[in-house]
Amino acid sequence: MADLREDVSKMRMALTFGVMGLLTVLSPAFLLAAENHHPQQITVNGKNYDWPKSPVVVVLIDGGDPAYVNDALAQGLLPNFKKLMTEGFVSVAVGAMPSFTNPNNISVITGVPPSVHGISGNFFLNPATGQEAMMDQPQFLRADSILAKFSEHGAKVAAITAKDKLAKMLAYRLQHGISFSAEKADKCTKEDNGIDNCPAYVGKPLPSAYSADLSLFVLEAGIRILEREKPDLMYLSLSDYIQHKYAPGSKEATEYYVGIDKALGRLVGLGATVALTADHGMNDKSKADGSPNIVFLQDLLDKQFGSGKTKVILPISDPYVKHHGGLGSYATIFFHQPISAPAVMNLLNKQPGVELVMNRAAFAKMFDLPADRIGDLVVVSDRGTVLGKSKATLDLSGLGGTRLRSHGGLADRNVYLIFPRPLNDKYAEIPDFPPAVKR
Ligand SMILES: [Zn+2]
Repeated sequence: MADLREDVSKMRMALTFGVMGLLTVLSPAFLLAAENHHPQQITVNGKNYDWPKSPVVVVLIDGGDPAYVNDALAQGLLPNFKKLMTEGFVSVAVGAMPSFTNPNNISVITGVPPSVHGISGNFFLNPATGQEAMMDQPQFLRADSILAKFSEHGAKVAAITAKDKLAKMLAYRLQHGISFSAEKADKCTKEDNGIDNCPAYVGKPLPSAYSADLSLFVLEAGIRILEREKPDLMYLSLSDYIQHKYAPGSKEATEYYVGIDKALGRLVGLGATVALTADHGMNDKSKADGSPNIVFLQDLLDKQFGSGKTKVILPISDPYVKHHGGLGSYATIFFHQPISAPAVMNLLNKQPGVELVMNRAAFAKMFDLPADRIGDLVVVSDRGTVLGKSKATLDLSGLGGTRLRSHGGLADRNVYLIFPRPLNDKYAEIPDFPPAVKR
């Protein structure tokens, strides 16, 4: 438990930095509000953010486990990462639980944890309807977006995402901004997205949803927008397709990071203040023989307690099955009929690979989650194990025979925080802010 408590403290710290915490870090000088017709500082979800004095670009490398950067850096292949990391600030922080895409992207753009912003997974059992649903609609947000709030005060804001599952939440309440997903770039209209015909604007063809190009398209779009629209604030969120499929050091992963590095260099060259982070890490979750290392929760529960008594929900679920086959290291369990929670916990705690089983209230408190949007129980598996429902219904054809790499658990939370300048004094006051790592 001591380790867990330490983790939680670090997690809270990581969550509170928020994307526009970066603004405070990076904009030490106050602007003259009267001359620029905007406030020198705005408040969002109870936190204050300075107005950016140069375009601030936050790049979220989806699935950006620090190991990928470290490997390519060691080969001398990432000159722009290296420059940012040696001249600025770098640390490894831990993201929010569950270590999935939506909860962490929304933590970054709201500056508050899931207990406040409400996004508890990519997917959940909606207590309001009793139906399982994707958590990709703005109606599920319980906090303001920093992007939207800056735009309401007159900032020019752009929010570009690789996968369409984030697009609506990133665009929510954005005023006169630019916002679209690379996945649906061919559907852009000036009225809805701020730009017509995005592929022509970006100068690249519509990328496949399953490609490194999906993310590189987002970065290229960011470069075009920076050149042409001079935004005050831009959020670029990539896809973790490459990290799900390829390990650090592989040719494909290295090429992808070299592509990111080149784009970073161009963004910096255009005068942007570029900050980098990730939503979660990524780990190999396969056995020695290459098959996925899965604990089938619904099978175990049905066998022990009878079918129909419990329902397992896998909040990693999204429409992108080729990435992970719907398997991650985090699951929630709902009790449909009265059942002994200690008996269920006892059964699951005995399973090899299960790291943590907690009830709703305890887990929500420890990990800052909205208690009404998680199950009666929460299960977390370890670094090398994923949680599934039932062996009979598992479909891994999308993986194409590669080793399963995924995330969702405690061991999958490590992310880099990279800022182009050392922190200002305000951050010295934040308890437990991750210390700088010397490189
Ligand atoms: Zn992700």
